[in-house]
Amino acid sequence: MKRILLFGAPGSGKGTMADFLQDEFHYLKVSTGDLIRDEIKSNSELGQKVKRIVSAGELVPDQWILDLLQKRLEQERELETYILDGYPRTIPQAESLSEIKVDDESAFYLKVSEEAVVDRLVSRLTCSGCGAIYNKRNMRPKKDGVCDQCGSALERRTDDVPETIRQRIEVYEKSTLPVIEYYERKGILITLDASGTPDEVYRLMKQYLK
Ligand code: AMP
Repeated sequence: MKRILLFGAPGSGKGTMADFLQDEFHYLKVSTGDLIRDEIKSNSELGQKVKRIVSAGELVPDQWILDLLQKRLEQERELETYILDGYPRTIPQAESLSEIKVDDESAFYLKVSEEAVVDRLVSRLTCSGCGAIYNKRNMRPKKDGVCDQCGSALERRTDDVPETIRQRIEVYEKSTLPVIEYYERKGILITLDASGTPDEVYRLMKQYLK
């Protein structure tokens, strides 16, 4: 089994790259943000507990996220390759992940300026049904407000607002940059210039896929 990790600030393109890889190679995309949003949408006990944390741009406790991730991976049989979008985000999460064994692991760091990510996030639209990602400026859906993939309505994420975006970037710098350094020390980190268009970044990334 193979695992691909995607790192980068909110808005750096992790979800979009994971969608591209899923479409082209049928790898399984596991986004812990999507898993959390599904819990919130279904109003589960966990969803109720995390709603305020997510809206504030803070991190959900490590164990809750790990439980969700494990549950999701257990649903899959004969999984060959999976992509993690948004996990791990803290050193304890990275340590827990290392317990979930794989034969091969690569980690991509999508590096882009803070100015660019803020710009992308304020114009991002997300599908309320399948989580597909669009952008009002350079990744428009075929029909305004409607997801190309599943036909559900597109919406702005409640945490894609300037105040929460700032907080998410701060949390990213404090908690997740050390995780990126952790994978750099492990020798499996590939840093990509993610300032280009989604197609350009995807082309760069594919050069490194084994
Ligand atoms: P994302 O869609 O990856 O931007 O995640 C949205 C929100 O979900 C984050 O701001 C956190 O509140 C929560 N979340 C997602 N993944 C994690 C994680 N690995 N650890 C803690 N919280 C997470």
